[in-house]
Amino acid sequence: VDPLLQIEDLKTYFYSGDKVIPSVDGVSFHINKGEIVALVGESGCGKSVTSLSILGLIDSPGKIEGGRILYHDLDLTRLSQKEKLQIRGKEISIIFQEPLAALNPVFTVGYQIQENIMVHERISKKKAKAKAIDLLIKVGIPHPEKVYQNYPHSLSGGMRQRVMIAMALSGNPKLIIADEPTTALDVTIQAQILQLLKEITEQQRTSILFITHDLGVVAEIADRVIVMYAGQVVEQADVYSLFDNPKHPYTKALFNSSPKMDQIDEELTAIEGAVPSPFEKPMGCKFHTRCPYVMGKCKSISPDLEENNGHLVRCWLSTENAKSEVT
Ligand code: SF4
Ligand code: MG
Repeated sequence: VDPLLQIEDLKTYFYSGDKVIPSVDGVSFHINKGEIVALVGESGCGKSVTSLSILGLIDSPGKIEGGRILYHDLDLTRLSQKEKLQIRGKEISIIFQEPLAALNPVFTVGYQIQENIMVHERISKKKAKAKAIDLLIKVGIPHPEKVYQNYPHSLSGGMRQRVMIAMALSGNPKLIIADEPTTALDVTIQAQILQLLKEITEQQRTSILFITHDLGVVAEIADRVIVMYAGQVVEQADVYSLFDNPKHPYTKALFNSSPKMDQIDEELTAIEGAVPSPFEKPMGCKFHTRCPYVMGKCKSISPDLEENNGHLVRCWLSTENAKSEVT
């Protein structure tokens, strides 16, 4: 085991008037070198806020109120603005769902990749251009010299996402955060992009934190899975254990509501009840308002995240089962 990033009891809160929204409420997990970790949950569960916390992109009215994010020996929550900029893009980079929002429409894609290389490396323009073209080849872009000269809007969605991946790779990052990078793409292109990301991790031992609400995508790409609900981790396991034996009632509900893997991706809407309002998170287990197995104590006492053979679950049912197995 070779952890690259270690998140310990992270608390990222947002403030709205006199209300506090604990978007990330005591989250801990790690990412090993060369590992693809999927962070799964419905929108609003805290998965994107977790990734923005890692990238040092939480601004007022948000604030990291507790915990640590260790990257090697550096605590990313304590960096100055300047240090954050040195980490971002170079050590840790991000791929968004919509590359058009991240690419500048007035510059050619080649120019943007080249500039990005030169921010992180002291090399000549000529060398940076050669490297940019190499990156376009690496991400599987046909006619890279031609695409180099294209503007982002003239490319297809899949090509743009490949360009975005080339940009993300241009600083030789150790960790890529991919926030729903394939959600806007059709299934064939999605499969190609997932394959590309897997090849990159295999070739370069890059790690990926892959944020998604789509379990089909998780099955394709992840080594390990972290399920979040209402700002907390509710289950964590390697991908085989999670798919074989999902333990948390919320994870089970995700599986039941998940569209078939070959269907067009949809938001998860089939789970009974709504995500609790961020202003009024329920007492006790945060899932109790929607859980079909809810018991008396679930409503008042929050279960801890407990481990059994490397499989972590936050549910009183699992805790009770584990106890009765022991005795
Ligand atoms: Fe359901 Fe209770 Fe488990 Fe929460 S602790 S998931 S309410 S059974
Ligand atoms: Mg999001």
